[in-house]
Amino acid sequence: MKTKKDYPEYMWATLSWPEIAERLKIVDTAILPCGAIEQHGPHLPVDVDYFDAAYLAERVAAACQEPRPFVLPALPYGVSYHHSEFKGTICVTNNALSALVYDIGMSLAHNGIKKIVILNGHGDNAPTLKYAAQMINRDAKIFVCVETGETSDVDIYDLIKTHNDIHAGEIETSTSMAIRPELVNMEKAVDDTLDLDNEYLDFTSERGVSWYVHTKKLSSSGVMGNARLATPEKGKVMWEIMIRKMTDFVETIKNISSDELYQNKY
Ligand SMILES: [Zn+2]
Repeated sequence: MKTKKDYPEYMWATLSWPEIAERLKIVDTAILPCGAIEQHGPHLPVDVDYFDAAYLAERVAAACQEPRPFVLPALPYGVSYHHSEFKGTICVTNNALSALVYDIGMSLAHNGIKKIVILNGHGDNAPTLKYAAQMINRDAKIFVCVETGETSDVDIYDLIKTHNDIHAGEIETSTSMAIRPELVNMEKAVDDTLDLDNEYLDFTSERGVSWYVHTKKLSSSGVMGNARLATPEKGKVMWEIMIRKMTDFVETIKNISSDELYQNKY
């Protein structure tokens, strides 16, 4: 049987209000994981972005020094209209997601949280989450940031062979194999690598311009990348890098005072 000790002291949802009140005296940082429930090809479950964001947030908090940041319950649903031609995709509008994240952020500020790290597991949530972050900052005047892999993407892309590996391909299949191999069906894994070969249109190019398309137009399987090249070993290395870089980032945020962040001019 589980005991109270099995529940980490930084997981917001399983604390009582007096425990949260006590912890708020020493912790001013909270991580809000945001995901999506959307198709991830014929070989992966639809919850990859949600599960991975929640998993990363928890692992990062565990890897931090005391006092560890709070981890909020992850938001499962995201902006996934572009996958809606595939069954299993549940999408919410940009307006609904930004309103929800804004309300959560304002409520966290009301609780006394001074720094919010929105840990985003789904690339297409990014503009909406950044909009919400700006609104929270405008109204609550607290630190809010959105991380969608920026702290580790350059290292991850160095590890893979696939060009434009953006969805359910070499990266996401590897990371899923490393932590939930029982949910990966490699017999159904396909290579649907996009070959745009254009520095402005490539999704992973440093000069890439943001553009939007329904996935079905580009890929009949829903995969954009090469899932066949995935291995659990690669996935394990990717998780180690993501956890290490994200922990380093959260520690930086956690240990810097608002005065320092704003150069004492705010
Ligand atoms: Zn994904």
